[in-house]
Amino acid sequence: MASSSSIKSRHVAVIGAGAAGLVAARELRREGHSVVVFEWQKQVGGTWIYTDHVESDPLSVDPTRLAVHSSVYGSLRTNLPRECMGFRDFPFAIRSGESRDQRRFPSHGEVLAYLQDFAKNPKFRIEELIRFETTVVRVSPAAGSDGGEGIGKWRIESTEKEEKIHRDEIYDAVVVCNGHYIEPRLADIPGISSWPGKELHSHNYRLPEPFNIFFKISASAVDISRDISEFAREVHVASWSNPADTFTKQNGYTNIWMHSMIERVHEDGSVVFQNGETVLGDVIMHCTGYKYHFPFLDTNGEVTVDDNCVGPLYKHVFPPALAPSFSLVGIPYKVLPFPMFELQSKWIAGVLSGRIMLPLKEDMMVETKTMKARFEALVIPKRFTHCLRIDQFEHYDWLGSQIGCSGTEEWRKEMSWPIFLRKMKHPESYRDEWEDHHLVDQAYEDFSMYIS
Ligand code: FAD
Repeated sequence: MASSSSIKSRHVAVIGAGAAGLVAARELRREGHSVVVFEWQKQVGGTWIYTDHVESDPLSVDPTRLAVHSSVYGSLRTNLPRECMGFRDFPFAIRSGESRDQRRFPSHGEVLAYLQDFAKNPKFRIEELIRFETTVVRVSPAAGSDGGEGIGKWRIESTEKEEKIHRDEIYDAVVVCNGHYIEPRLADIPGISSWPGKELHSHNYRLPEPFNIFFKISASAVDISRDISEFAREVHVASWSNPADTFTKQNGYTNIWMHSMIERVHEDGSVVFQNGETVLGDVIMHCTGYKYHFPFLDTNGEVTVDDNCVGPLYKHVFPPALAPSFSLVGIPYKVLPFPMFELQSKWIAGVLSGRIMLPLKEDMMVETKTMKARFEALVIPKRFTHCLRIDQFEHYDWLGSQIGCSGTEEWRKEMSWPIFLRKMKHPESYRDEWEDHHLVDQAYEDFSMYIS
């Protein structure tokens, strides 16, 4: 740890005012840095800002399309209990008020309201740091600059209010929080170019419609298939995680079938699954997740995305060659997003001020190479590099050890894994029925320190 006299205050740009950018801004300011948050939308909340609008290209592959940031659909309720979701000292506890959703797994609107409350909270004064309707168009190392002590500076080019104002500024550091659910990934389906039906990605799904429909892969497929089953004649869910002979009816539903992968589709509209079943379909919805995408980033190849792995990254946050002045918040998935953003942000803030030391660049690089080699030896595709799932708590504990706090509360740990299992087993009821009342009580006991 550095002595208090060597603590530095930096001028830091944060890109994005979603959950990650908001908490990053708060932690950076708490640490004594001066912060500017760039946000192209008119309000905070990122992906939780629901809109009826969808993109002109339902598959979102046309690079000239007008992007819609949110992937949230009308009926979406959280897939985590609210106790697990909130920031540690600003719990996502039940709030009173007519418009508030007091359910344990609330609607998307309640998450947005929570983030708005967080941004407006007079203790944190985050909103005053944000430049709304300002798009970052380029982030590059500032030519010939070295902000002293080996920390490089960054040039941030942005446009404000529909490109009327252009800014070109230099910052000591940049923290990228641009969200990772906007650039869809699509499944490769043999025969699709001559299949006559309609295709869309779940990014562009908002409300159920009465059509016979198919899905591919992923968690959101489970919720959306139930959403649509009320209107559709038949819903067929194809998933790579199902064994090849899978063909079962979804528990509690008369018109949802689970399959293995789609083997091929044909010109006559038929869809053939690996299990040998053939059905006629109108629509294929790709619930196939998203790709990391940093269209504004120009790091001379120091940060790349290869098979959906962002790298090289030390602990999923700092590219060794650009550390500590460049960092990313929110790269890991299958995590508790908000608490992880908070821990990563505290670490970044402390590292930038010099209060927390990073290993030497070479040592960070060795660690990223070791991790890569481990994945290769286990024949795990690179795209799973940032999938933490059960390893997430190790990541939080490690971050906690750097910051000087515990990674996560015991109740949060104990709550999340059984809920994940219940979600798999009882997708239709896990949001409204539970048994972990004692953990909820422990959470609210902790929350009482922060809520009046
Ligand atoms: P975002 O919320 O996407 O915010 C990024 C922000 O950056 C946006 O406001 C965007 O406008 C801005 N931005 C991007 N590029 C630029 C630029 N160039 N210039 C200026 N601004 C820019 N998490 C949970 O905890 N619980 C759940 O139940 C849950 N359900 C989910 C359901 C769906 C369908 C999806 C898609 C995600 C869900 N998540 C859930 C994960 C969720 O994405 C995270 O919780 C979190 O909200 C992500 O925050 P973020 O700040 O990283 O990204």
